[in-house]
Amino acid sequence: MAERLKPLFAALLVLLASACDPPEKTLHESHYIFGTLVEIVIRNPDQTKAREAIVAVVELLRDQHREWHAWKPGGELYRINKAIADGSSIAVSDAMASMIEEAKRLSALSGGLFDPGIGAIVGAWGFHADEPPKGRKPPLDEIRALAARRPSISQITITDGVLSSSNRAVQLDFGAFAKGYGLDAGMAHLKTLGIKHAILNAGGDLNVIGEAYGRPWRVGIRHPVGWGVLGAVEAADGEAVYTSGNYERFLEVEGVRHSHILDPRDGMPVTHIASATVIHESGALADAAATALSVAGPEAWEEVAQAMGVERVLLVTEDGDILQSAGLGSSFALEPAD
Ligand code: ADP
Ligand code: MG
Repeated sequence: MAERLKPLFAALLVLLASACDPPEKTLHESHYIFGTLVEIVIRNPDQTKAREAIVAVVELLRDQHREWHAWKPGGELYRINKAIADGSSIAVSDAMASMIEEAKRLSALSGGLFDPGIGAIVGAWGFHADEPPKGRKPPLDEIRALAARRPSISQITITDGVLSSSNRAVQLDFGAFAKGYGLDAGMAHLKTLGIKHAILNAGGDLNVIGEAYGRPWRVGIRHPVGWGVLGAVEAADGEAVYTSGNYERFLEVEGVRHSHILDPRDGMPVTHIASATVIHESGALADAAATALSVAGPEAWEEVAQAMGVERVLLVTEDGDILQSAGLGSSFALEPAD
């Protein structure tokens, strides 16, 4: 169902984003990248330039997807994970070293609640697959044993371009951070090509620059249940809006959904939070923080938001309650129910 409805859903977001734009000046394209539909919206007087910019950014995002894939052979991250499991060191590209250092920094800020070193636990739950897993839970003893080895990205060091890990249980998985980091780079690239007004939207996680004809871009926030829209935010020039949720990828066993967002402390799927949305100038930070706040839950999210330096947060609990940070102010508006 999800796959079938995704294009519809993405179209809905763009509709919200561009409701007031004369269509002839705005170019829209969708491409399947990062396991989701990536919508590119460019408002530019020169349509040829806009089209060329789309081609360039699609190529960049596709390269990222290949190089950053945690479990499919062919990319750099796959080779790194293999080396760590073998207990060897490996030379890494400058781009990969920067990405890993940024992920380490954000993980430390989150107190380890966002930790891209837990790839083996993600795999054990069956989330290393294009389609979400079906059927059975993995043996919980196996999960507990993996979590007890305390894999963490903090155990990775890179010296003179050579990466090593002090813990062979570490496997890097950028599922919670790659879209943010990648779309930040994609947007920076569009700017170097002279594009001033654009949206890059990876299935509801998005970055914007510029505006929609004299007013901010208006973008939808996914509803944690179904594929509708919970509400809308006005995203200012250079802002990113990221949502983590358990509605798109989860393991359902006997009617119970197990989230693909895991608590690195015990390897168990998060409960209590159905979705977490963060608005920030950095997509990478917004993406990592949305994941960390999902793990933090209703009791600890404010503390973690403060530690990570995020002020605009919207959480939906499993019971459907909406929790908002004071910093969100009036920038978020709930959509009237149908
Ligand atoms: P969404 O895909 O809903 O936007 P996230 O950004 O939170 O959600 O990404 C979730 C993915 O990140 C999981 O599929 C898994 O690959 C990985 N992951 C799960 N839990 C964590 C965690 N606590 N820290 C870092 N990565 C995680
Ligand atoms: Mg995330």
